[in-house]
Amino acid sequence: MTSRRFHTLALLIVGATFVGLTALERRRPLRREGEAKMRRLSRNLAFAGFAVTTVNVIERPIVQPLARAVERHRLGLLHRTRMPRPLRAALALLMLDYTLYVWHVLVHRVPWLWRFHLVHHVDLDLDASTALRFHFGELALSVPWRAAQIVAIGVTPDVLTLWQNALLVSILFHHSNVRLPADVERAVSRLVVTPRMHGIHHSIVPDETSSNWSSGLTIWDWLHGTLRLNVPQREITIGVPAYRDPRDVTLGRALELPFLPQRAWRLLPRNGEPAPHSTDGPRDALAE
Ligand SMILES: [Zn+2]
Repeated sequence: MTSRRFHTLALLIVGATFVGLTALERRRPLRREGEAKMRRLSRNLAFAGFAVTTVNVIERPIVQPLARAVERHRLGLLHRTRMPRPLRAALALLMLDYTLYVWHVLVHRVPWLWRFHLVHHVDLDLDASTALRFHFGELALSVPWRAAQIVAIGVTPDVLTLWQNALLVSILFHHSNVRLPADVERAVSRLVVTPRMHGIHHSIVPDETSSNWSSGLTIWDWLHGTLRLNVPQREITIGVPAYRDPRDVTLGRALELPFLPQRAWRLLPRNGEPAPHSTDGPRDALAE
């Protein structure tokens, strides 16, 4: 397949995933939603517009030539030894997924990165459109990390494109507010991140936010002991404690949020830190 054909096909799959999940969210919602759906949807689509522009203007002109250089000069860890192409591609995908886990921890732990990632987390509901809600500054700041991933691992252009599109489908899926049958989700969550699992990461309880950092495969949380599945979704409040007012999450406010004085994000306006939830069974058992 030519690369233009592949790009068109990928765009169609990503678009169809978004539309399909948004339709399913109406029919089988997982969590009750607070804000009006259309208002959030249009706001998050505006975020997507900024994001696409940032990716086209800043990310693509840097990472695509880098990946081509990796291929031409056989750079990176995976080109140190001879191996079949499919094996190299599979290992590259695994290592990209793991280093993205590390990046996700960093955007929460490093204060000046958290200022930007906060914009994604203050959304008062969680659905497929939240997957599009990233501050363009966070996307720009991730470019050096992406460049380092490509060069250090040895990621070629076709693997990079495959990974970026698979990641988009994955983040649309696990941000979605679709209620899957619990036993189906229990099985799927052993392999990849699912809506209930990522819902726990978006909870206003800080201890729950500090879990489920994976964006593709679940195994990284499992290996690091950061997997947390036993919080029932009906108990979860989505968002960040210090930013619960709908006026805090509008498009304009959210765009300037990283540059404003920061609140103590863990604290509710009057009540201190949100209390941890009662849990159902062991940490790695998915609660409904
Ligand atoms: Zn996060």
